[in-house]
Amino acid sequence: MKYIQLCEVYENLQNNSSRLKKTEILAEFLEKLKEEKNKQVVYLLQGKVFPDNSEKEFGISEQLCIKALAKSSGISKEKLVDDWKKMGDLGEVAQKTIDKKKQNTLFTKTLTTQKVIDNLKRLPELEGRGTVDKKLALISELLTSAKGLEAKYIIRTLLNNLRIGVASGTLRDAIVQAAFKPKTIKEKKELMEIVQDSYDKATDLALVLEKAYKGIPALKNTKLIPGKAIKAMLAQKAVSVEDGLNKVGRPAIFEYKYDGFRMMINKSESGEIKIFTRHLDDVTLQFPDVVEYIKDHIKLKSFIIDSEAIGYDPKTKKYTPFEAISQRIKRKHNIHELIKKLPIEVNVFDLIYYNGKSLLDEPFEKRTKILREMIKPQKYKIRLAHQLITSDRKKAEKFYKEALKDNQEGVMIKNLGARYQPGLRVGHMLKLKPAENELDLVITGAEYGKGKRVGNFASFILSCFNEKTNQFVEIGKSSGLKEKSETGPTFEQLTKLLKPYVLKEKGRIAQIKPKIVVTILYQNIQRSPTYKSGYGLRFPRIIAIRPDRKPKSIANLKEIDHDYKRHELKIHY
Ligand code: ATP
Repeated sequence: MKYIQLCEVYENLQNNSSRLKKTEILAEFLEKLKEEKNKQVVYLLQGKVFPDNSEKEFGISEQLCIKALAKSSGISKEKLVDDWKKMGDLGEVAQKTIDKKKQNTLFTKTLTTQKVIDNLKRLPELEGRGTVDKKLALISELLTSAKGLEAKYIIRTLLNNLRIGVASGTLRDAIVQAAFKPKTIKEKKELMEIVQDSYDKATDLALVLEKAYKGIPALKNTKLIPGKAIKAMLAQKAVSVEDGLNKVGRPAIFEYKYDGFRMMINKSESGEIKIFTRHLDDVTLQFPDVVEYIKDHIKLKSFIIDSEAIGYDPKTKKYTPFEAISQRIKRKHNIHELIKKLPIEVNVFDLIYYNGKSLLDEPFEKRTKILREMIKPQKYKIRLAHQLITSDRKKAEKFYKEALKDNQEGVMIKNLGARYQPGLRVGHMLKLKPAENELDLVITGAEYGKGKRVGNFASFILSCFNEKTNQFVEIGKSSGLKEKSETGPTFEQLTKLLKPYVLKEKGRIAQIKPKIVVTILYQNIQRSPTYKSGYGLRFPRIIAIRPDRKPKSIANLKEIDHDYKRHELKIHY
């Protein structure tokens, strides 16, 4: 198929905002794929060249796209950057640039979808020396043969930003339309369910399309395969226990909402254990400790479990917030050292596949029951999510409070009869957690870091203002600042700012003159004997330095007191 045909479909989709119209355009295009042996073109409609269960990424920056464009058009990088600033979309810059160039050249090759797929597929495979040049060559080759419109979509695909407004649900509907042309609403609904179910198991649209053209039995025969990533089911929000019970129905299953990161753990029929994140990245190598827990504590042939891994302090054994263990997800070397420093406990809350059988359609009550029989739990290794089944609001509120007291984020509220719906934010599983709030506070102390952070402050004592005594009083300690400033100040920036105001130092702790005001986000306020204010903030995170604020204009104790009372009320009602 010519790539330009697909680009015209992209344009058409971009110019039509109605979902119905988009479905129609897509269905018409998918019909053309019926006779094509290779259905992978459907990935291009998703802006990819791999199925959804693949973790492969192009890893291409805007800078590299500009380089490739310069190389294939002969226009300077400076001019391209200039155009980019004016137009705001590199895809459009590419279109304009290539169109202009093509006016001056006579010969152009025809770009096929297969050629685009082939070149793009090679990008994630490249590693080691000369990678950038090789990537550049693959992209430039496409751009050199491309027409303006094609260049636009090659660049947008590379940058993961197709901007055609097609969600996976619309693609599913289009598959139904293209393959079956249902006549009644009832028929359409049934087919949508069948296609969705096939996709939930395969997590691969090309495969689903292929099956759809073969017919309903082929779709129904889609197998869930442990060892291949599937999408995680996501939760909607509840604003209170009462709200949660009303929405999911009584009785409901309440579980701790653990403050960690999600792990979908698979054991395939061949016995291999694989761990995937919520974004379907394979992190098995990073977690040999978890692989061991699984081997020791679950004696089953095959399964897929859904869980949350939380960190704990190896000395005090206290559970730590997510930030503390986040580095474990990426670390690929010296893993055993890191395991000792940042151990984790896996809290299992769902079961999706059990000994050769998919449990996606089984009610949660049954899934959780089997789960509770199949795991031999052990604290600090692998446990079952702490659970309460109740219709009683008061009991549930007590459970919620306990979860917060145990340093977890809140509770999940789940319907007993619901099925597991991969990739959907469902209304039958709700999360309830205290709202995050913002405060301006002043830094009155800091602690020097270790390792990479030696010589810099790594955690910061935060204070509010007590108007009655005209003093700054401590209210919390924030750590977890980044090395790079994507989401707020870095610890280096803050150290530089604070150093001139150090009053005295004792060991690694410095006392600091209250000068630097910062905005923080926090989860909730608790009464605390540790701090002079009498309150302690949970999960405070510095998100901005506020040179525009005077220390005495920051949050005062009266406001904190008010926030605390409001929060207490919120938990109760
Ligand atoms: P959040 O930032 O609130 O965790 P999210 O977008 O990561 O939201 P949601 O599906 O909205 O994910 O919220 C549920 C998340 O809570 C899950 O993704 C999972 O990582 C985590 N979690 C912790 N404990 C549980 C539990 N017992 N049951 C289900 N999910 C849990």
